[in-house]
Order: sequence, then structure tokens, then C-alpha cells
Amino acid sequence: MAPVAMPSALTYELLAKCSVTKARAAILHLPHGPVPLPIFMPVATQASLKGLTPEQLEETGCRLCLNNTYHLGLKPGQATLDAIGGAHKFQSWPHNILTDSGGFQMVSLLKLAKVAEEGVRFLSPHDGSPMLLTPEHSISLQNSIGSDIIMQLDDVIATTSPDLARMEEAMERSVRWLDRCIAAHKYPERQNLFCIIQGGLDLNLRRQCTKEMVARDTPGIAIGGLSGGEAKDEYCRVVDACTSLLPEKKPRYVMGVGYPEDLIVSIALGADMFDCVWPTRTARFGNAVTANGVLNLRNAAFSGDFSSIEEGCQCVCCRPKEDGGLGITKAYIYHVTAKETAGAHLLTIHNVHYLLSLMKSARTAIMEDRYPSFVKEFFRKLYDDKSKFPEWAVTALKGVGVDLLGD
Ligand SMILES: [Zn+2]
Repeated sequence: MAPVAMPSALTYELLAKCSVTKARAAILHLPHGPVPLPIFMPVATQASLKGLTPEQLEETGCRLCLNNTYHLGLKPGQATLDAIGGAHKFQSWPHNILTDSGGFQMVSLLKLAKVAEEGVRFLSPHDGSPMLLTPEHSISLQNSIGSDIIMQLDDVIATTSPDLARMEEAMERSVRWLDRCIAAHKYPERQNLFCIIQGGLDLNLRRQCTKEMVARDTPGIAIGGLSGGEAKDEYCRVVDACTSLLPEKKPRYVMGVGYPEDLIVSIALGADMFDCVWPTRTARFGNAVTANGVLNLRNAAFSGDFSSIEEGCQCVCCRPKEDGGLGITKAYIYHVTAKETAGAHLLTIHNVHYLLSLMKSARTAIMEDRYPSFVKEFFRKLYDDKSKFPEWAVTALKGVGVDLLGD
């Protein structure tokens, strides 16, 4: 049986709902301050965002970032985290942190990880000895990290797996593991446990799982197991089916999503929170994420381009010197990006800022009840021609009342 009335350390303050789509604007009040929703959360893998200092991350407007439990559990390790008093202090990060369960990292990083009912079995990357990550151990690690939002350990398999029986087993096991996580959670009054809806691309499994998870009454709800190479229209159908069954007054987090067009469509489908390594990872390859698409600044065409990475961008790199910014140009990035980390570092700042300000604009549009026209303008800028709009986006948006191809 599911426990009743789990304490919550968050308040979801709904501010506005789009009158056409399922988009919502809200303030998520967390232990380390309020966070505007919808939100994109950058992934700070080893307690740092690829070379950015906490001040630089703060400067991008980020108030909630993601840390990996698996990495923090290895280094500095649980004993050090306990001694220091958690990851906020360890990183000098005064704002909110969300941690994953560690399970996904293990399954994806360690070839020999195996899932059994007790937990995820794997070989230690240090000495090859057999180890086991249980729901209880994952929660214990996250309790030591002290993150504001903690995630349940779930049984994740590739959405593209054709094995429906295995998919069903993973979904049911994830529900059982949630119960073990709830029982193991020591600090529900200061850390918010989110459940994770599984069920692959099967809408019936997803609905069944959503019902089970919602009954456990966790402070927030995540939709997991997506962004694993499935077709985008299947992704949209799953998000749409799940959000339709979710309570209005709780945050909804779709895991592993970070392309700007995916965020904009997912918001229309009723999702509020997203995370992805893509914006920071792609920066290391010289890619700038902009409203007009991704620019590869390693391309020689930019060698003499002395305009900012993105015109009008308010990030510290793009802002002119007279406005207190660095006044970085495309040509500068071109010249440093191949041989120095400075280029990647600057692009990381720009890319994270871009996604956060995109979320801010989306939020303003929802508050002013003009999200449908905002979505149309976004796609027009990104693809400059209606004939290039991706079909999955046109279909998904039509399903929530927005005719992307209309005027
Ligand atoms: Zn910028």
C-alpha cells in the first residue's frame, strides 16, 4: 500500500494557464528560493558546469541546476558530503539543486550494469568489485547531497525496445521502487522526492503507471525514459497522454529534453521542467544555440564576423563592453574555439543563457495568454520557411489547438 500524505518541501504556485494549449506558468517555491516555471535546468556534472564558476552559472539566471548522484557519490563521496554538509556547501551554490537517482548514469556508463529486483548491479569503476545500487542507497546518497529535488531510482530501458513484457516489468518495478524510496527518504520536509513515470511508448502502460505514481502523492512528477532515440511524434504522444492525467498543482518534469523546439512543444503539451546535457556539450564543439538555429562557430565563414554570437542577447558574452558585458564576437570564438577551452566556456554561458531566456519569454507569453502566437513566431525564426517545419511539431501542436502552418 502507498503511504498517505507525504510531506512536501515545495509549493507550486500556478500563475496562468494558456487558454488554447496546455501550457502553464508558475512559481516553484523550493528550499533554496523560488524558481520560475517553465524552466530549463543545466546539468552540472561534477559539481561544476564545464568550467563555469558558481558565479558565472548564477549570472546566466540559473536558479536550479542538476547534479549527478553517481558522480558525486564517487567523488567527493558520501562521507565527505556528510562532513561538509551537502552539495550546496561543497559547490558554494546558494540556489536549488536537483539530483538524479544515479541509476541511469550507471546503466548508460557501465557496460556491465544489470537490473534485478533489489537494484542495479554493477562492477565498481575503481576496482571491478561487484556493487549494488538499491532504491534505499540512491535515496541515502541524495539525502547526503541535500538536493532540493531528489529522484526515485527507476528501472529505465530504451523506449525503442520492442520487448513489451520487459517494458511492463520495468514500469511495475519502478512503482515498487518508488515505494521503497518513499520509505527510505529521511528528509521529506526539506527535500522533494519526484516519482518517474515509465512505460516506454505504450500509452496504456504509461496511463497505468501515471495512475499508480499519482496515488503515491509525491511533491513532483517526472516523465522518464524518453529522449532515447524514439520518433518525436511518439515522444509527444507520451507526454500528452501523461500530462492529461496529472494533478494541476504539481510540477511536471520531462527528463532529458533540451532542443529548443522540443521545449517549446513540450510546454504546449503541459510540461514545466526540462534538463539536458546537449546545450553545454554542443558548446564544446563550437556550436552556438540561437533563435535562428545552431551556428557552428568553427566554420571559417565566421573568421571575419565581428558581430556578437547572437544579436540582442543579454548574456555576459554577447553584451557589449559598454553595457558591462564581454562583447565577444563570432570571429573571436572562431579563433579560440579549436585550440582553447575559453571558446567552449564562453559558448556554454551563451547557450545556457539562451535556453533560460527562451523559457522566460515562453513564460511571459503564457502569462499574457499569447502562447500560440509565440510558438508560431519561434518556429518562423528557427526555420525561416513554413515548408521546413518538422511534421511532428505541426501534428503535436495541432493536437493542442495551434495551427502552426496557419497565419
Ligand atoms: Zn549570448
